[in-house]
Amino acid sequence: MTSPLLPPWFESARSEVNAALAAGRLAHGLLLHEDPGAGGLELARWIAQRVNCSVPARAPCGECQSCRWIKADQHPDVTRLSPEEDSEYIKIEPVRELIADLTLTAHGRGYKVAIFSPADALYPNAGNSLLKTLEEPSKRTLILLVTSQPSRLLPTLRSRCSRLRLAGPTREEAADYLTAARGAGPWAEALATTGAGPFSLLDADPAALAQLRNDTIATLADIGSGNLQPPAVADRWAKSELAIRLSCLESWVTDRILETESIRDVTHLSGAALPPKICRLFEFSDAIRDMRKLAHTSINKTMAVEALLWRWARQ
Ligand SMILES: [Zn+2]
Repeated sequence: MTSPLLPPWFESARSEVNAALAAGRLAHGLLLHEDPGAGGLELARWIAQRVNCSVPARAPCGECQSCRWIKADQHPDVTRLSPEEDSEYIKIEPVRELIADLTLTAHGRGYKVAIFSPADALYPNAGNSLLKTLEEPSKRTLILLVTSQPSRLLPTLRSRCSRLRLAGPTREEAADYLTAARGAGPWAEALATTGAGPFSLLDADPAALAQLRNDTIATLADIGSGNLQPPAVADRWAKSELAIRLSCLESWVTDRILETESIRDVTHLSGAALPPKICRLFEFSDAIRDMRKLAHTSINKTMAVEALLWRWARQ
């Protein structure tokens, strides 16, 4: 789903692009470094509209044919490449086709724009094949690499692009945005469940996510108080929504750490060794993060979940 609204947290990035265009120094390659779910692809579409809108005086107008085509991913001069459904990578063949197309003149009077989202899905060979285009770009071409993990891009690719940072909104702004885009719902809880930004939730069921969060946090509380043993839940967690449960745990622990730290600031307890409570939270947070990295591998998930939850139970 494409959102109908322009998020307020795009403003600083939009100003940067406008200033670069006004000064005639917009780079041919832009690395859009977004916080997860902050809307990097939407910002890339906005930039494509900005340089291709038929009403330059108020570009992007959002209403002309160019703007509408770009919004619908149908503009002949604007191509978006994302991984195909059966793959986590952007394959080399479509990248080659796109590079060949970038050397042709634009159909309209604007720019040829190539959007890679997420750009960290560029398979190394596919990334390599872009280097020459970035070094010797045709006039009025724009390559937009959208990623929340720039370190996963080839260093040679990163170094040939200008960076544009898109910081995510506060949770309150994100909840307001989702309410405006999708209607009322438990958006704050849904956002706390995934820990990511609002664009990752545009198609989500907020009530289901809120319920999953309540179940996960209640189970953790029961384990912490000794009312429940990890083997009793490990299998259920391993087989159902494990990735979201791990995101939910990480986001919950991060919130608890932030709360504890702000209490420490207020009461001037800093300077001494970290209190045991916060050490416990940091250790658990590290363990969750390690588990999230492993969750896509062929590890025995039930055993791994059980080991993770025992860390919470034992402390
Ligand atoms: Zn327009």
